[in-house]
Amino acid sequence: MKKAIAVIRGDGIGPEIVEQALLVLNKVAEQYGHEFTYTDVDMGGNAIDKWGDPLPQAMLQKCLDSDSVLLGAVGGPKWNDVPGPMRPEKGLLRLRAGMGVYSNNRPAKIWPQLASASPLKQEIVDKGIDFLIVRELIGGIYFGKHETVVEDGEKTAIDELRYSESEIRRIGRIGFETARKRGKKLCSVEKSNVLDSSRLWKKVMHELAAEYPDVELSDMLVDNCAMQIVKAPSQFDVIVTENMFGDILSDEASMITGSIGMIPSSSLGETSCGLYEPIHGSAPDIAGKDIANPIGTILAAAMMLRFSFDMEKEADVIESAVSKVLDEGYRTKDILPADPTGCTLVGCKEMGRLIIENL
Ligand code: NAD
Repeated sequence: MKKAIAVIRGDGIGPEIVEQALLVLNKVAEQYGHEFTYTDVDMGGNAIDKWGDPLPQAMLQKCLDSDSVLLGAVGGPKWNDVPGPMRPEKGLLRLRAGMGVYSNNRPAKIWPQLASASPLKQEIVDKGIDFLIVRELIGGIYFGKHETVVEDGEKTAIDELRYSESEIRRIGRIGFETARKRGKKLCSVEKSNVLDSSRLWKKVMHELAAEYPDVELSDMLVDNCAMQIVKAPSQFDVIVTENMFGDILSDEASMITGSIGMIPSSSLGETSCGLYEPIHGSAPDIAGKDIANPIGTILAAAMMLRFSFDMEKEADVIESAVSKVLDEGYRTKDILPADPTGCTLVGCKEMGRLIIENL
């Protein structure tokens, strides 16, 4: 099968981790007779430096013309003082909106080999952590009007939060469909005791529930959910929530599984062209040192094969190779246990090489 992949290496550790994911994809292509072609796309800080824009229209077009997009991460302290609309992260928001990818899926699953890296108590981890957060990605407060005005002689900042029924319904359906394919339990997270947008969210979710009698729907307030994720994560199967709540909860969920460097995410809309990336940022503190964990990006590439290209077997092979390398005790610095007995510390490139060797 031929597939055209737009590649955004980005900033910080982005180029290092993406390179390893491309090497893995090349090996899989060779083994299974596929042809993957790559088109480099500038986005983020490097695009600001080169083009004066975090995502020039021509770069967005390259993504829209591709079969899917693989992204490292963007941003860094160098661009901290750039004005709002020109910030590196704005490029990412424009990419998501331009691609119409309204559904972000982030698994929170503990790898048994890394159970000791979880900050949670052993008895909580032993009950199992395996859930998925479905986050609305192109609406809500991140996409509302942002302004700072002067009122009564002082600055006042306003961020608008809006959701329409149709925006809620389409992400709600993804939540129900995803739960249907997993443990058939969907938890809808909102703040309906305070926010109108959350009351509408809850109403739409309950309307949808009638179409999915096989899925058990529950409601949870976001503050309680933040507590439950650390207190009793085994209760969750699929969580569906709005953009900002999902952003925060999914970072929390990533930490209880051990390291942010292990977790991939997929973002999809109405077509099979998706955006695949690790959930972490550009980690400027470790950039260029060959110590970043490339596994989140490699697993994001596996998700791309599974969800956008229907290459189930190939995705399985990558995931098993990661598992084997972890079984053999190889660890990047972020997942090295406090007592490293039986483990071998490796860098980013070596971790990539070991995964390829095990494909
Ligand atoms: P971060 O995720 O980049 O880093 C947080 C911590 O996790 C750091 O200590 C870092 O070293 C570590 N870490 C992250 N990824 C790792 C990996 N693969 N291997 C080992 N350790 C890893 O978050 P931050 O420091 O808050 O943000 C840095 C920059 O990234 C900021 O400019 C932020 O805006 C940007 N950012 C970008 C994205 C994206 O591109 N999708 C997402 C989040 C943050």
